[in-house]
Amino acid sequence: MIQPDEYIRSLLKRQPGESVTARGWVKTRRDSKNVHFIQLNDGSSPVDLQVVLDAGLVPPETVAAITTGASLSVEGALVASPGKGQAVELKARTVKVHGAANPETYPLQKKKHTLETLREIGHLRPRSNTFGAVFRVRNALAFAIHKFFQDRGFLYVHTPVISASDAEGAGQLFEVTTLELGKPPDFTQDFFSRKTFLTVSGQLEAEIFAHAFANVYTFGPTFRAENSNTPRHLAEFYMIEPEMAFCDLKGNQDLAEAFLKSLVEQVMEACRPDLEFLTKWYEPELLKTLDGLVNSRFERITYTEAVAALQKSGKNFEFSTEWGADLQSEHERYLTEELFGKPVIVTDYPRAIKAFYMRANDDGQTVGAMDVLAPRIGEIIGGSQREERYDVLKQRIAEQGMPEEAYWWYLDLRRFGGVEHAGFGLGFERMLMYLTGMKNIRDVIPFPRTPGNAEF
Ligand code: ATP
Ligand code: MN
Repeated sequence: MIQPDEYIRSLLKRQPGESVTARGWVKTRRDSKNVHFIQLNDGSSPVDLQVVLDAGLVPPETVAAITTGASLSVEGALVASPGKGQAVELKARTVKVHGAANPETYPLQKKKHTLETLREIGHLRPRSNTFGAVFRVRNALAFAIHKFFQDRGFLYVHTPVISASDAEGAGQLFEVTTLELGKPPDFTQDFFSRKTFLTVSGQLEAEIFAHAFANVYTFGPTFRAENSNTPRHLAEFYMIEPEMAFCDLKGNQDLAEAFLKSLVEQVMEACRPDLEFLTKWYEPELLKTLDGLVNSRFERITYTEAVAALQKSGKNFEFSTEWGADLQSEHERYLTEELFGKPVIVTDYPRAIKAFYMRANDDGQTVGAMDVLAPRIGEIIGGSQREERYDVLKQRIAEQGMPEEAYWWYLDLRRFGGVEHAGFGLGFERMLMYLTGMKNIRDVIPFPRTPGNAEF
C-alpha cells in the first residue's frame, strides 16, 4: 500500500538526496542515448514524477514493458531536477513492472482524446489528466461540504434511498419492486407491501430531523427518470439538502450564499493546480468566475422583478417570459451572465409552478421559493421556506390532488412542535460543473447514468 508520504504529490515536495519508492502508472516513456525518461503518476497530483532510468541498468525486456499504462514500483534517490515544472526527479536504482499494458491494444495512449471517446472507456478514463483533475476536485468538494456544515454544528442525516413518497409530486420516478414483470401488479403483494420508488429528494425526511436537531443536512444519491438527455441532467446524481428549523427565506438565502462561497474557496485552496489545468484546457474563464463568485455579493430579486427584467431586455427568447411561466435556461443565463454578471437568487415564484410544501405568501399568488442561478450553468440550488401552517399545508395538498393519507407524518410535524423552517437542495454534479468548467454533467461523475447508458 502507498503510505501517505509516498504519494507522488508528497514526493514532489521532498528534498533531493532522499531515498524513496514511487509507485504508479506510466504516462509516457521517452528514450535518449543514455537514459530513459518515465513520467509516472499515481493519481495524487496533476504533475507527474519524472523517473530517470540509466540505460543498461535493467534488462531490455523490462524497459520494453515500461509503456504507457503499465504499473511500476521504482526505488531510487530524489535528485534536483534540471527541467522546469518540478523541483525533484527520481533517479532509479531498481524498477519492478507489476502489470504491462500492451501498446498495440491499450486504448488510452498519449494523444489527446475527446471527452466523448473517454466516456466509452469509463474503466480507464480516471487515469487521464483531465479526469484526474475532475475527480480530485470532486473529492475535495465532498470534503468541503461536510466541513462547512460540521463547523456550523449541522447534523448529518442519512435519508432513505428507497422511499414511498414522491417529494416533488412530479413523476420522473424509478419504481422499486420485486413483483414479476409482465403481470398486472398487486402492490399489496410487493416487497414493502406498497408502491416504492428510488428517492428523488431527501427533503421531507430531512424536515423530520430538523424538527429534532434544528440544523441538519443530507448528502446522498438521488434518482430521477429524466428522459431528456440534456447536458445538465443525470438519472442518478448526488444532492446536498440542508434543512433549518427557526429559519425563514432570508436565513435560507444567507446560508446558500455563504455555503457556495465557502465551497469555492475551500476547493480553490485544495486543488489549485487542478483548477489551473482545467482553466488552460477547458474553460479559460474558470478561475476568473470562481474568484468572481467568492468576491461578489449575490444579486437578490423576486421572480416578478426577474420577469420584468426579461421583458425589458429586448432579447428574442425562445421561451415565454409571461408572468407565470417557469424560468428557462436561456432566461437564467441572461440574468446571471448579461444583466448582473454574477450569481442571482430569484425568490417568490408563482405558486402554480412550485411544489406543495413551499410556504404560501400573503399575496395569494406566490410562494417562498428561491433558486440560486450561477453564470455558465444556470440553476444550481433550488430551495424554499416550508409551509409550517397545518391548515394551509392541508389545503395545498388537496389543491394539487395529492393523497393526504400518504403525508400523515409530514402533516403531524405541523401539529406537534411545528416551527418555521427552510432548506434547499444543491446538485453536487451541477456544482462540479461550475467548479471544473466541464460542459457535460456526464464528465463530472465517475459512472454516469443517463437514458440508454449504464455500462460501467
Ligand atoms: P432543473 O430545472 O434543472 O431540472 P429541478 O427544478 O428539477 O432542476 P430541484 O428539484 O430543485 O431541481 O433539485 C435541486 C437541485 O438538484 C437542482 O438545483 C439541481 O442542482 C439538481 N438537479 C436536479 N435534477 C438533476 C438531475 N437530473 N441531474 C443532476 N442534478 C440535478
Ligand atoms: Mn428537473
